[in-house]
Amino acid sequence: MQRSYNFGAGPAALPFEVLQQASAEMLTWRDAGLSVMEMSHRGQKFTSIAHTAELDLKELLDIPDNYSVLFLQGGASSQFAMVPMNLLHNSKTADYIVTGTWSKKAQLEAEKFCKTNIIADTTDSGFTTVPAANSVKITHDTAYVHYTVNETIEGVEFDYIPDTGATPLVADMSSTLLSRPLDIKRYGLIYAGAQKNIGPAGLVVVIIRNDLLGKPISGTPTMFDYRIHADNNSMYNTPPTYSWYLAGLVFQWLKRQGGLRAMAEINQNKATTLYSAIDNSGFYKNSVAKNCRSWMNVPFTITVPNLDNLFLEQAQQHGLIALKGHRSVGGMRASIYNAMPLEGVISLIEFMTEFERRYG
Ligand SMILES: *Cc1c(COP(=O)(O)O)cnc(C)c1O
Repeated sequence: MQRSYNFGAGPAALPFEVLQQASAEMLTWRDAGLSVMEMSHRGQKFTSIAHTAELDLKELLDIPDNYSVLFLQGGASSQFAMVPMNLLHNSKTADYIVTGTWSKKAQLEAEKFCKTNIIADTTDSGFTTVPAANSVKITHDTAYVHYTVNETIEGVEFDYIPDTGATPLVADMSSTLLSRPLDIKRYGLIYAGAQKNIGPAGLVVVIIRNDLLGKPISGTPTMFDYRIHADNNSMYNTPPTYSWYLAGLVFQWLKRQGGLRAMAEINQNKATTLYSAIDNSGFYKNSVAKNCRSWMNVPFTITVPNLDNLFLEQAQQHGLIALKGHRSVGGMRASIYNAMPLEGVISLIEFMTEFERRYG
């Protein structure tokens, strides 16, 4: 069996040990006589799997007691609507910071429910920067401030947490949650689609401060009301059980690696190594400002025209797959989430060096 290094942005690589464990438990989970996929979500076995996963996530992220953790469906994209539906309360406006494709999508979706104020926008930089911390001024009557911590497509990541005072800060952390420690109490709500850095697709994790629950706008469907899910331990209806279980295996794997402090060190090292290789070559280029380069998604281009397809083809032959940039921006993108080992990054750099030697 030959596994490739998967640099896909999502669904992304999962830790090899996690896949091994899932494989060993596929036909029967422990002595249950059935697979996790076949279990009742209300049975004692699955509820213990689910509860353990929640406790492990709380431990990893050091989530305070006044927050609820929800395991939902619909991807990060449904959160673009759930956030305004649940957090507008009596307000008619919400502030959005636009730093790339995903934050723009979130803002456009919120426009269906309220007036959005775009309080900072880096479109003019071609989404290669984040706004200066002191330039972010929130609107006085806004219900919340939304931003995307790591723009998965453009490879731009905030190097600071916007200060919103008493106004709830809402963060799309789909491609950065669990990559490093996080000060949860700075946030009112955090959401993250699982298929980047948490587990398989089909699951989105929401961490919400409890005082924000329970005031959805009128007409909010039951399934879109965070309170319903919080009151029912995310089991109001059938949750994505297998994705939840696999996420739990990933959380245990993270704990075995030494938790998020250890992951931060590994991730920073992987990112620094790759960016240095790019910066030290005249052949590859990353246009993102150095202070806000993503640790997780590294887009790059080749300065010699028309070599992208050849690069991607030959990379694949070397077992380095899914390096194609997002269709909206082109070029290449190496996503190096938690599950990508340093060896994968080194293997990519060796290939890049050799490719440059031949075609540069
Ligand atoms: C992938 C991604 C999304 C969309 O996730 P879905 O689960 O496909 O809806 C939203 N925001 C960010 C930052 C992402 O990386």
